[in-house]
Amino acid sequence: MTTIVRNLQLLRDRITTACFAAGRDPASVRLLAVSKTFPAEAVIDAMADGQRAFGENYIAEGVEKILALRAWQDGKDPEEAQAAAASPLEWHCIGPVQSNKTRLVAEHFDWVQSVDRLKIAQRLNEQRPPHLPPLQICLQVNVDGGANKSGLAPADVLALARELVQLPRLRLRGLMAIPEPAPDFVAACAVHARTKALFDEVNAAGDLPVAMDTLSMGMTADLEAAIQAGSTMVRVGTAIFGAR
Ligand SMILES: *Cc1c(COP(=O)(O)O)cnc(C)c1O
Repeated sequence: MTTIVRNLQLLRDRITTACFAAGRDPASVRLLAVSKTFPAEAVIDAMADGQRAFGENYIAEGVEKILALRAWQDGKDPEEAQAAAASPLEWHCIGPVQSNKTRLVAEHFDWVQSVDRLKIAQRLNEQRPPHLPPLQICLQVNVDGGANKSGLAPADVLALARELVQLPRLRLRGLMAIPEPAPDFVAACAVHARTKALFDEVNAAGDLPVAMDTLSMGMTADLEAAIQAGSTMVRVGTAIFGAR
């Protein structure tokens, strides 16, 4: 067993334990494996444990890995290739997207969790190739108001959500947040609970055609608090692949 597979198994136990502590069904929390800075071989190791969803921060690096993995899968014998096609990889862009990178993102990723401006959403919508399914979108929220951080102010989320659902090549799935590290579990729960409250508020406003189903929060250091607060997707790098 590789270190990555062992790490994934320990991590899944950690997620399950956190779900039980929070009185939640472990099936209600998805794991996004954040493979940024690690090579395609690390992704292949994680696939051996059934992991399919991967997150990348840096667009050029992410696209290179997506293409490397596709070539690797295409090079396999037909039976294995068929098995791979039956449960395809799912690539999430979780880093900042500049205007000049939207085409690469729209052409290669399945999800973008870091949308915080209408202009970027419009470009992704225009550039999403017609043969691909709509791009799955989370709005990034700057929940704790860090001055130099990406993400929408909580008060602006509903307005952008209303605009985004008008764009036919995008599908609004939820919210994503990266709060500052908190001093302890209680403080971490409190900040994640604010994102959860915002998520519920936007859904309750009732003017989205389909309710959001994804609340992406929690990383290696704070996933228990995020699950306690209602996260449906934790994004974990270090605990799977090691220190960067
Ligand atoms: C790097 C990164 C992660 C993973 O962080 P770890 O602490 O390594 O688990 C999650 N989300 C985002 C947006 C990141 O940039």
